[in-house]
Amino acid sequence: MSTKTFDVVVIGGGPGGYIAAIRAAQLGFNTACIDEWSNDEGGPAPGGTCTNVGCIPSKALLQSSEHFEHAGHSFADHGIGLDNLSIDVRKMLSRKDVVVKQNNDGIHYLFKKNKVTFFHGRGSFVGASDGGNWEVAVGDARLVAKNIVVATGSSARALAGAPFDEDRILSNDGALRIGEVPRTLGLIGAGVIGLEMGSVWRRLGSDVNVLEGLPTFLGVVDEQIAKEAHKAFTKQGLKISLGVKVGEIKAGDSGVTVDYTDANGVAQRLEVERLIVSIGRVPNTTGLNHEAVGLKLDERGAIVVDDDCRTNLPGVWAVGDVVRGPMLANKAEEEGVAVAERIAGQHGHVNFNTIPWVIYTSPEIAWVGQNEQELKAAGRAYKAGTFPFMANGRARAMGDTTGMVKMLADATTDEILGVHIVGPMASELIAECVVAMEFKASSEDIARICHAHPSLSEATKEAALAVSKRTLNF
Ligand SMILES: Cc1cc2nc3c(=O)[nH]c(=O)nc-3n(C[C@H](O)[C@H](O)[C@H](O)COP(=O)(O)OP(=O)(O)OC[C@H]3O[C@@H](n4cnc5c(N)ncnc54)[C@H](O)[C@@H]3O)c2cc1C
Repeated sequence: MSTKTFDVVVIGGGPGGYIAAIRAAQLGFNTACIDEWSNDEGGPAPGGTCTNVGCIPSKALLQSSEHFEHAGHSFADHGIGLDNLSIDVRKMLSRKDVVVKQNNDGIHYLFKKNKVTFFHGRGSFVGASDGGNWEVAVGDARLVAKNIVVATGSSARALAGAPFDEDRILSNDGALRIGEVPRTLGLIGAGVIGLEMGSVWRRLGSDVNVLEGLPTFLGVVDEQIAKEAHKAFTKQGLKISLGVKVGEIKAGDSGVTVDYTDANGVAQRLEVERLIVSIGRVPNTTGLNHEAVGLKLDERGAIVVDDDCRTNLPGVWAVGDVVRGPMLANKAEEEGVAVAERIAGQHGHVNFNTIPWVIYTSPEIAWVGQNEQELKAAGRAYKAGTFPFMANGRARAMGDTTGMVKMLADATTDEILGVHIVGPMASELIAECVVAMEFKASSEDIARICHAHPSLSEATKEAALAVSKRTLNF
C-alpha cells in the first residue's frame, strides 16, 4: 500500500470534478482526481455522466437524428432531392462513441497539461489523519490531503417495481445505445432528458408516447414558452399525456406494457417495444464511505453544503449533481471553479440567478433568470416583450420559424429579470442574455446594441424593443 500526499484530492471526474481539479492545479496546488467510470474495455473514461452517458452523447445523437429529419422533410423545400433515405443506426451509435472518446481523451490531455494526477477507481473516505488532513483510499493507494472535493454526481432514478434492464426498460444509458429504431417507444417523464431522448427516436421513425405525472407540461419553463413548445412537439407527432398515474410495468421478450390511469381517471395500457424511464436523478454517494467521517447528507441523499459548497467537515467540499441546485453540467463546472478558488483564499462565487438552462429539442428551449409565473408569485412588477421567429429574416431563410424570444424586465428600473426562448439555436442565443443579466443590463441596453443582420440574435433585440412597445419588424 502506498500513501501519497496532495494539497487537493477531487473524488469524481465529471464536469464538477475535473474542472475543480484543473482550476486547483492552475492555482498551484498539487492535485489528484479520482474517477471510477470505465469504458467498454475497462479503461478509464473521465468526464462523468456528462461525457459518457449525458450531455455529449445525447447531443451527438440529436445532431444525427436532426440531419435525418431535415433530409427527410425539409431538404425538398431547398430543391435537394434524396431518394431512398435510410439510417444506419449502428454507424450513428459508433459516431457517438467516437465523439465521447474524443472528450475522454481531451480530459486526459488536460490533466497532463495541468499536472493533475489521475487515479482510475473508486475513492472512499478512510478517515481523518494528522494535521487536519483527510485520508482517501483508491485501490491499493492512500491519498492524504487537507482539501477534498466530492464531485460524485448522480444516477438515473428507477421506478419502484421496474428496475432498469437496459434492454426493454432503459435509463439514459440504455436510451443512448438502442441498436435499431424501435417501432414504438414509451417514455415515462416529460423532463429535459426524456424530451431529448424522445426527440432522437421520434425523428428516426419511432411512434413515441410520453407519460408525465405532473398536470402541466414543463412546469419549470415559462408558461407561454412551454405552451409553444408543447404545440410544436405535438405537431411533430410526439404524443404527450399529462397528469397520468403509472401503475404496473411488465417487461417481456418483445416489449413492455405500462398500465396507467389517465388525467380523467380512466385505466389505460401502453404497449411499446422499449420504455425509457426518465423521472429524475439520485445523488451518488454509494461507496464514498461518508459514514466513516460523518459527512452529512440530506433526506434526498444529497451532500449538505452551504452557499460556498462547504460541507459540515472542515476542508471537505462538494459540488455538482451530488449537492442541491439544478443538475446541469454548467452549474457543476462553475461550482468546481468557485471551490478551487475558495481553497486558494479567493472569492469564487456562483450566481444561481444567471445559470442558463437549455433543452436541446427542436425547437430548442433556453432560459435564464425568472419566468413570468415566478415574477407574478413574487409580486414583482414587470414588463414583458416578445418577438416571434416568424418575423425574423434569418429564421425565414433557414426555414425554421417556430417559437419566440420573450424578455421580462423590471417595471420601474427596466433591469432584465429573465429571458425565455423557444426556437432555433436558443442554446446559443441565451448566452447574450446571460451576459446582459450578469452586467445588470436593462432591456433598453439590448435594444440599443447593434446586432448583425440577418441573424437570429435580432429576435433578442426585437424582444427587448417589444418591452417598451417599439418593435421595428413586427
Ligand atoms: C441524458 C442526459 C443529458 C444531459 N444533458 C445535459 C446538457 O445538455 N446540459 C447540461 O448542462 N447537463 C446535462 N445533463 C446533466 C449533466 O450530465 C450533469 O448535471 C453533470 O454531469 C453533473 O456533473 P457532476 O460532475 O456533478 O457529476 P457526473 O457527471 O455524474 O460525474 C461524477 C463522476 O464521479 C464518478 N464517481 C462517483 N462516485 C465515485 C467514487 N466514490 N469514486 C470515484 N469516482 C466516483 C462517477 O463515475 C462519474 O464519473 C444531462 C444528463 C443526462 C443523463
